[in-house]
Amino acid sequence: MPIANDNPASEPTSPACPCGGSALELVGKTPRVGPYPELKTFRCSDCGEVITVESD
Ligand SMILES: [Zn+2]
Repeated sequence: MPIANDNPASEPTSPACPCGGSALELVGKTPRVGPYPELKTFRCSDCGEVITVESD
């Protein structure tokens, strides 16, 4: 289904941390397996929060 988007062709590769920190670093990737998409793991260098996002 169509989604409204203001930034075409630009996928967010770096998620935002709830703490408001701006420096999330990519610390790991999980390869795509079967129906599951590739996952990217980021860690916030400000608070240490780890965030995993799906990636195509
Ligand atoms: Zn943080």
